[in-house]
Amino acid sequence: MSDTRRNEAITVGGVTVRPGRRSRIQLPFAKVATGSDDTLPVAVINGRSSGPHVWLSAAIHGDELNGVEIVRRVMRHLDPKNLRGAVIAVPIVNPLGFMIESRYLPDRRDLNRAFPGSSRGSTASRLAHLFMEQIVAQSSVGIDLHTASNHRINIPQIRADIDDAATLKLARAFRAPFTIHAKARDGSLRQAARELGATVLVYEAGQAHRFDSAAIETGTAGVLRTLTSLGMLDGRLPRAKPTRLIRHTRWVRARRGGLAEINVKLGQHVEEGEHIAAISDAFGSRPTQVKATETGWIIAQTQRPLVNSGDAIAHIARETGPDKDEPAERRR
Ligand SMILES: [Zn+2]
Repeated sequence: MSDTRRNEAITVGGVTVRPGRRSRIQLPFAKVATGSDDTLPVAVINGRSSGPHVWLSAAIHGDELNGVEIVRRVMRHLDPKNLRGAVIAVPIVNPLGFMIESRYLPDRRDLNRAFPGSSRGSTASRLAHLFMEQIVAQSSVGIDLHTASNHRINIPQIRADIDDAATLKLARAFRAPFTIHAKARDGSLRQAARELGATVLVYEAGQAHRFDSAAIETGTAGVLRTLTSLGMLDGRLPRAKPTRLIRHTRWVRARRGGLAEINVKLGQHVEEGEHIAAISDAFGSRPTQVKATETGWIIAQTQRPLVNSGDAIAHIARETGPDKDEPAERRR
């Protein structure tokens, strides 16, 4: 790349990081019950030459750990002397939830429903506000890292607005096995950041409370590929197949209660009507077959054998040709 313009300094929480330097910053966000300050750990890697500013965030849900490890691994690859632009890394956005491996804050609030937040609201709202002011406001791109919740496991997937050309380009660069079109939810970091003009990818992979090596490796390579596609890094990365774009997904639910045995693997292609699980009673008798309601790929499934009627068993992504969908996208 020929862009060797000198970058500018970045200031986070009153700490200025000059071009070609990296710095760790602790941003106080709350006085907690012990009377001490709790802080948000932030690392700024400010490249010597100019380029985009990208934030990486993880553990906005405090029990979702794969993203924390992805941020740690990506940071090891980044050298401010060779980086064009800057990376602002926040591996633990919800420190209070992370401490107790809880999705929520201690008052049961979901931080990812508290954005953009306010300086005088709940703890979640204040933390969201701080993140928006210090991190999002000086970034043009964000990658927010999650896992499945509720004892479910996800195949590595990007959730993004694929009707937005800039977002689609980054999702394609990331090359997760699947990219699921998803509208942003009220109060989410993704929605609040988009309102400020940022391009945001949400990565969801693996399960809560655990490290999943495939989810971590795919995520780490995906983030590095995305930074490379933005012109921030040089070098070659492991090859990966192009992502599959998905517009429709549906959960297959249990029609009865009992003990579920799932017979399909994450990523497996299934046909509508195919038996994907069996639910039987406490003695293993009277099994009921659970059938796929779509033809497509298994992108998530429950990890819990105990099910009540209505519980989600498996999430199927319906096969859609991206090119076939193109005219419909344009008409929107
Ligand atoms: Zn999450």
